[in-house]
Amino acid sequence: MRELFSFLSEERVLVDKEDLLLYSYDATPSRRYPIAVVRPVSTEEVVEIVKVASRKRIPLVARGAGTSLSGAPLPCEGCIVVDFSLMDEIIEVDEVNAFVAVQPGVVYEALNRELAKHGLFFPPDPGSGSVCTIAGMVAMNSSGIRAVKYGTTRDYVASLEVVLGTGRVVKLGGRYKKSSSGYDLKSLFVGSEGTLGLFTEIGLRVIPRPNHHAAMIAHFDDFTEAGKAITQAMAKRLDVAVLEVMDSLVVEAVESFSGINLGSAEALVLAEVEGFDANVKEEIRRIAQVFTRRGAKVELAFDEAEIARLWRARKAALPALARLASTLLLEDITVPVSALPEMMRRIRGIGQRHNIRIATFGHAGDGNLHPTFLVENEEEMRRVSAAIEELFRECLSLGGTLSGEHGIGTEKRRYFELEHGYATQVMREIKRALDPKNILNPGKIFYGRQAYFKLR
Ligand SMILES: Cc1cc2nc3c(=O)[nH]c(=O)nc-3n(C[C@H](O)[C@H](O)[C@H](O)COP(=O)(O)OP(=O)(O)OC[C@H]3O[C@@H](n4cnc5c(N)ncnc54)[C@H](O)[C@@H]3O)c2cc1C
Repeated sequence: MRELFSFLSEERVLVDKEDLLLYSYDATPSRRYPIAVVRPVSTEEVVEIVKVASRKRIPLVARGAGTSLSGAPLPCEGCIVVDFSLMDEIIEVDEVNAFVAVQPGVVYEALNRELAKHGLFFPPDPGSGSVCTIAGMVAMNSSGIRAVKYGTTRDYVASLEVVLGTGRVVKLGGRYKKSSSGYDLKSLFVGSEGTLGLFTEIGLRVIPRPNHHAAMIAHFDDFTEAGKAITQAMAKRLDVAVLEVMDSLVVEAVESFSGINLGSAEALVLAEVEGFDANVKEEIRRIAQVFTRRGAKVELAFDEAEIARLWRARKAALPALARLASTLLLEDITVPVSALPEMMRRIRGIGQRHNIRIATFGHAGDGNLHPTFLVENEEEMRRVSAAIEELFRECLSLGGTLSGEHGIGTEKRRYFELEHGYATQVMREIKRALDPKNILNPGKIFYGRQAYFKLR
């Protein structure tokens, strides 16, 4: 293996089992070893790696921090993992054009620390932001609690340098504000999960960092009622930056994990408004009014430390739930906001019908819920699998999508065609055009490892 990659220094080609173990997993329960790991430091090296892999027909799986919740960076059989963590330079912050150029392995929070020095920020804010990479976020179109106001990673990708499966390099987009010049290929790569090309440089639009914040916590006696209040608040077009929901199982888990006292409730709604002046206080009061009128007990928070405490509690949801069961399966279905209360009701019904524990939290303001299945044994896993299929069907029947932020990977690929129908074939054709030998992350997104080759 080292001979094949003799253009990389020896310590950047890993073949020992102990090293490979570190690349054998993501944040799903699955595991698989690659045959090697390569760690490039430049676009030129990535091109050479792709050329070798293409000649030898060895699959390549790109990897950022390995935090995916859908199996997207999991090694496939006989593959080499391309670890981008050494390409972690912030190349340029361009204040005039509100643009930043980065290498793929830059970590989300490290980028925002640097941008803060310029009064700027990159808002998508995933829960894994302290470790996940910008390339991983682009490849998954990640987002987080602020998507309701600021949108997702896709809305900020201005330019990409991509190495295709043929070893050709394409440069897409730029730091300009608008363009009517041809197909928007750059957007095609956002959310492509490492199946269409390898990102070697990423340009992002960034925005001024808000400096005034106000928050609210609302306690409800009924989970579905919380959903109705959220739908109503969104219909009023209030300027909310964060609008999150947690059910009672999540609240209890967070309290016992973090010691943060949230008060008992069937459902909690957390909201934040942010901006550049004291008007944020007025806006949070308007939002609070909607919740009070629907019978919630509401507290406001204007103090930075108190607001930080609320978000620590929300971000503790996943690690807190991880202590309740040996396996967690976290979904990220997303429905139109108008369908949120009905989706919340149906999740409750699915839990009861299959006799399983589902803890639900999520970015309710944009209709994105994380029903989290708590699983203890194989017999329960069988019931959970049936429940997850039902969950996806219910979500699609309400006009929703399988994934609001975590992607398809290996975990949801069986259901992909159910959502996209004939568009799945179109996507397979696009993959074939950009990666004719199917060496880039095969077996992800599409069901059946080589499925798209069967089309002709
Ligand atoms: C505790 C926790 C909380 C999370 N919270 C959120 C959340 O709030 N919102 C959210 O959206 N996600 C969340 N996630 C999921 C995950 O963190 C995101 O999908 C993240 O963007 C993945 O980044 P990564 O660097 O870990 O990429 P990886 O997991 O390593 O890879 C993800 C995908 O990117 C591809 N990739 C990596 N580098 C490149 C490259 N250079 N070129 C092309 N493709 C590449 C991989 O092949 C893979 O398909 C969470 C995960 C955990 C464990």
